[in-house]
Amino acid sequence: MPDPRPHLGEPLALDLLNTRWIENGPQDLLTDVAGLRVWLASASLADRATADEATLAAVLAARTAVYDVVVHGSQDALNEVLAHGRIRRALTESGPADLVEVPEKPWLPAWLAADNLLDLLRAAPDRIRQCAHPECVLFFYDTSKNGTRRWHSMATCGNRTKAARHYARKV
Ligand SMILES: [Zn+2]
Repeated sequence: MPDPRPHLGEPLALDLLNTRWIENGPQDLLTDVAGLRVWLASASLADRATADEATLAAVLAARTAVYDVVVHGSQDALNEVLAHGRIRRALTESGPADLVEVPEKPWLPAWLAADNLLDLLRAAPDRIRQCAHPECVLFFYDTSKNGTRRWHSMATCGNRTKAARHYARKV
C-alpha cells in the first residue's frame, strides 16, 4: 500500500504529526495496524519495528506528546515517552557511538520520534511550524535560508492562499 499522505519527507517527529491531514475532512493514517505499517515503511523503520497494536499505541502516544510540545508547549507527555529509552555512549570497533536502548520493542519508533523532536528543539525551535493555510494542519521544519517559509507546500497551500486573496480583491 503506497503512502496516501499529501506531504512527506519532514524530520521524523513532524512526519509523525503529518499522519493527520485534511482532504475532504480530517484524515488519519494511524487508525489501524495497516496504516502503521505504511508509516513505518515511509519512516524507514520497517526493519526495526513490528506493525502491531502495541507499537501503534506507543506511536499514537508519541504523536500526542509531540503535538503537545509543538502546539501547547507542554513537556510532560514527551518526557513520559522518552522515559522508555535512553542513549548509551560506547566505544565500538568503528569508534565512539551513541547506542539507542529501548528495552520494550514496541516503544522504539515512538522513542525515536520523541528524540528527534529534541534534536529539532536543540537546533532551531522557531523553525518548527504549522502550515499557515487555515484549512491545513500539516507541519514542516523550515530549512529555507531566511527562515520565512509559511506553507507546507508553495504549490498547494501557498497558491491557494494567493488565489483566495486575488479573488477577494476582485469582489
Ligand atoms: Zn499546507
